Amino acid sequence: MSRFLSERMRAFAAYTPGEQPKVTGALIKLNTNESPYPPPPSVARAMTPDAIARLRLYSDLAAADLVSALSEDLGVDRNQIAVGNGSDEVIYFAMIAFGGSGAAFADITYGFYPVWSKLIGIEEQVIPLKADFTLDPADYASLGKMILIANPNAPTGIALSPSDIERILRANPDQVVLVDEAYVDFGGESCVPLAARYDNLLVCRTFSKSRQMAGARLGFLVGSPALIADVEKVRYSVNPYNVNSLTQIAGAASVRDKPYFERTRQSIIATREWTSSALNKLGFAVLPSSANFLFAKAPNLGGQAYMQALRRHNILVRWFDADRIRDYVRITIGTDEQMRLLIEYTQRIIGGTDA
Ligand SMILES: *Cc1c(COP(=O)(O)O)cnc(C)c1O
Repeated sequence: MSRFLSERMRAFAAYTPGEQPKVTGALIKLNTNESPYPPPPSVARAMTPDAIARLRLYSDLAAADLVSALSEDLGVDRNQIAVGNGSDEVIYFAMIAFGGSGAAFADITYGFYPVWSKLIGIEEQVIPLKADFTLDPADYASLGKMILIANPNAPTGIALSPSDIERILRANPDQVVLVDEAYVDFGGESCVPLAARYDNLLVCRTFSKSRQMAGARLGFLVGSPALIADVEKVRYSVNPYNVNSLTQIAGAASVRDKPYFERTRQSIIATREWTSSALNKLGFAVLPSSANFLFAKAPNLGGQAYMQALRRHNILVRWFDADRIRDYVRITIGTDEQMRLLIEYTQRIIGGTDA
């Protein structure tokens, strides 16, 4: 720390991302919920010399072609979409715009929400999930604060139905409810169709998980034109050229390749299902997942010990040093072969025959 750091930032604890080691052939990286598959071939084809030459220009402020592709895909108007440098950025913008009276979120959810609350300086209200890690909509009545809900939730993978979200929207008509749908393509039900009926709903999506583009940094919000205009006001005050031109092109190409998207997401779901039952058979407690990861507890060792044992076999999973979830690890769904190896080593680890 330098002697120049402001008083406020001295005391500030930054978000800790999952480890990002150099990926070599031997490493099985199941710790940050990336896709094991590459983006569709149409994305590589779109990276033309002309697209690269245009890097000399600033990117399109309106991301017009990308927003058109999204608008067509989701059945919402173009002025109902705001794009960002990852969904992280647009959630941050939304909190600046709508967190004036504070922000409420679960005790076990995306670790960035409390970090942004503190960074922006808004009051936070943490609402514990139930003992089984489900969220009770009754706990979210008239909170008088912006509400953030990851649905499906991370790191649990548990999904809430749109009718439960509707209950929360109706109980908080004067506050924005942001539904973070980073994982919705893996089995959750989207709240995007509700955006036409609720002027206090913002839905957030990302290209990082189901669209194989975590490194391109692309996410977006869907909401009423008025909410989107407010988010755009923040975007224009921070970084109007937030989505680079190659990412805009890549994103549009990805959205237009529906068969590839469908194939890859179905394949992850199928791999998740057999991996979950294989872990169950080994005595693990596995939460019901609607995401591209499993949140699981080993029968006879703690989360940190299991994480470390897997690491000795070059398999990375995520363990959170946090109350209530220390016994669990979060395992990203990889390819069938990667998960087969995970199960094989896990069998040895919990059977005590690990070399
Ligand atoms: C991965 C994730 C995001 C964000 O991702 P970006 O890469 O910034 O788009 C947002 N919310 C949740 C719950 C996530 O798990």
